[in-house]
Amino acid sequence: MNIPFLDLKSPYIELKDELDAAYRRVMESGWYILGREVQSFETEFAAYCETKYCIGVANGLDALHLIVRAYGIGPGDEVIVPSNTYIATWLAVTHAGATPVPVEPDERTYNLDPARIEQAITPMTKAILVVHLYGQTADMDPINAIAQKYGLKIIEDCAQAHGARYKGRRAGSLGDAAGFSFYPGKNLGAIGDGGAVTTNDNELSERIKVLRNYGSQIKYHNEVVGFNSRLDELQAALLRVKLTKLDECNERRRIVASSYIQDLTTITPLTIPFIPEWAEPVWHLFVVRQDRRDELQKMLAEAGIGTMIHYPIPPHLQPAYSDLGYKRGDFPISEAIHNSVISLPMWPGITEDSIVSVCASLHKVHSA
Ligand SMILES: *Cc1c(COP(=O)(O)O)cnc(C)c1O
Repeated sequence: MNIPFLDLKSPYIELKDELDAAYRRVMESGWYILGREVQSFETEFAAYCETKYCIGVANGLDALHLIVRAYGIGPGDEVIVPSNTYIATWLAVTHAGATPVPVEPDERTYNLDPARIEQAITPMTKAILVVHLYGQTADMDPINAIAQKYGLKIIEDCAQAHGARYKGRRAGSLGDAAGFSFYPGKNLGAIGDGGAVTTNDNELSERIKVLRNYGSQIKYHNEVVGFNSRLDELQAALLRVKLTKLDECNERRRIVASSYIQDLTTITPLTIPFIPEWAEPVWHLFVVRQDRRDELQKMLAEAGIGTMIHYPIPPHLQPAYSDLGYKRGDFPISEAIHNSVISLPMWPGITEDSIVSVCASLHKVHSA
């Protein structure tokens, strides 16, 4: 048996004609940076996310970093971040010179626990950077209420949540601004790096456009100290093709997830994903929890099943952030999650047979 954790080539095979045509269109256009493809993708992705504006940038980290900068958040300011996230969320804050203030997750959803946010707010707090981890949104209504009460910006990290909904509303439209990643393995993935900001805030949108392009609106006139962080024409053209299939791909992921859930609920040592009634997740990852996770991963590998750990080490224990002074035990919920999660094979084209085999292996491991 060989069931990979993720198959990145099958989406190309499936959409070959359309992707090849988009590639040729760009190659033959003679225009490769900030042109018609990026503009069209921005219009189409804003419509998809139900926001007024979308600005294409180079990657997901830049999308978040530029939002933090554009809101004027920097040294001396604090941004609330989840303790349980991928390190990019924190990097967006520290790259702008601000300080990340971690808040623990709800242990059932793995996302920011609204009940713990208020005690982390200080006079220096400027924003809450919310992550919709694994493709399921955080509980946004109470988070927005806190932001409103304290006058904080809400920034969404949507890198894993393209198309997810919260009470019927799309991820990317649930706060003041959102950052998306189009890294190949994401639900909407490019053939390389890419990212975008979505927002209804016109002023922010204009500032991001300037920041992504050397701080310049008119070529060679530089108003602010900017960056080179542009989505390129080729990636935009390929993303436009993939965007037309995103809902269908997310629906296939949903069917995969419900097959897993149905089959795996009977394995008691395994914690399967919890879906609050207001959530419509898009299953970027299918993550289960179990003690002695490393042993389980090894046994599945021996059976030919690829898995991944998202993530093995929380940001506060990474050597990169040793200067923040955190130690083991500071964020016990997040640490327990990091020690016990394991992600099962998940992509839109995974076959029913493969799902059955993964589940059978898990049953076998647990009956031994
Ligand atoms: C992938 C990811 C990012 C960063 O996206 P890149 O395009 O790789 O820069 C940020 N946050 C989360 C939660 C992610 O999964």
